Amino acid sequence: MKAHPEGLFEGEGVSTSLHLPQDVGVVEHPVAGVDYPQRWAEFEAWFPDEEHCVAYLVHLRWPDGFRCPRCGGERAWPTTRGRLVCAACRHQISVTAGTILAGTRTPLRVWFAAAWHLTQQKLGVSALGLQRVLGWGSYQTAWTILHKLRRAMVRLERAPLLGPVEVDETYVGGIERGRRGRLAGAKAIVAIAVEVPEPDRLGRVRLTRIADFSAESLLPFVGWAVTPGALVRTDGWQGYRPLAAAGYVHERVSLRASGDAAHVAMPGVHRVASLLERWILGTHHGSVGHDHLDAYLEEFTFRFNRRRARYRGLLFYRLLEQMVRTSPAPYRAIVESRSTPDHNMLG
Ligand SMILES: [Zn+2]
Repeated sequence: MKAHPEGLFEGEGVSTSLHLPQDVGVVEHPVAGVDYPQRWAEFEAWFPDEEHCVAYLVHLRWPDGFRCPRCGGERAWPTTRGRLVCAACRHQISVTAGTILAGTRTPLRVWFAAAWHLTQQKLGVSALGLQRVLGWGSYQTAWTILHKLRRAMVRLERAPLLGPVEVDETYVGGIERGRRGRLAGAKAIVAIAVEVPEPDRLGRVRLTRIADFSAESLLPFVGWAVTPGALVRTDGWQGYRPLAAAGYVHERVSLRASGDAAHVAMPGVHRVASLLERWILGTHHGSVGHDHLDAYLEEFTFRFNRRRARYRGLLFYRLLEQMVRTSPAPYRAIVESRSTPDHNMLG
């Protein structure tokens, strides 16, 4: 969906319904280089001006194609600064209305660049740092942009995982890792869910401690971690059997039938388990009390979901998606919640 403003509104990919911000459809498998840029050089080529940014936002807000909210017309053209005019009834629609970008006097390209820089940094950026890399606006402007983006980022954090998702459990708290049925001893059981948007590529993770391997423990975990109706891949364990009845597209990978080891059949979740184990061994010398485990799992999740590499482009895409869905925050509300303006950890 690379933005081509001049060809965009000519009836391609039109749909039958208008998507309001809260109902924006989700591109389940955004592809690097097709749905979002992968590198800064690509970013600059994709978004050379405001029109290209508008076209991109139109795609995010109306993923199934534009439709006029007044007359149902399927054609529109862009005017200045993020407005669309319906070709049939001349109704004007703002691309940014009802989003965190509503009423902004900052060019969309600056917003996009800020979102790009924010999603590239593991620990976020400061307003001063952002002002410097953008080379635009005042410190106050950069601070306001950052604060609004962070709100969208928090929502992104809380958004359930999108399918396909691999789900499994692992033991944490000791050097040995075992399979179900073995005595866990002092170890804790951690449920893991990870997005696998493409083979060999991992998206976001969600982890939590669970009491046991029963369906009573596993189903609530999946319900919390994964978007309803998503494709969920598990092994053949009976605790996952009710997933289909719960509305998920359940794909059971039978390790016994395929003859593959677990790391071959479900490489994503196996990799996350290994990373978690190594991180706990390396950082915490393997000794994590159960009482502290939840905090460590949160930190691991935060770090994992912020890691660099190819995923950062996807994070940029998801952040923009959140931006066109997040309701506007008036400046005063932001200032009132202001506490530590230049210590900009995300979230
Ligand atoms: Zn119309």
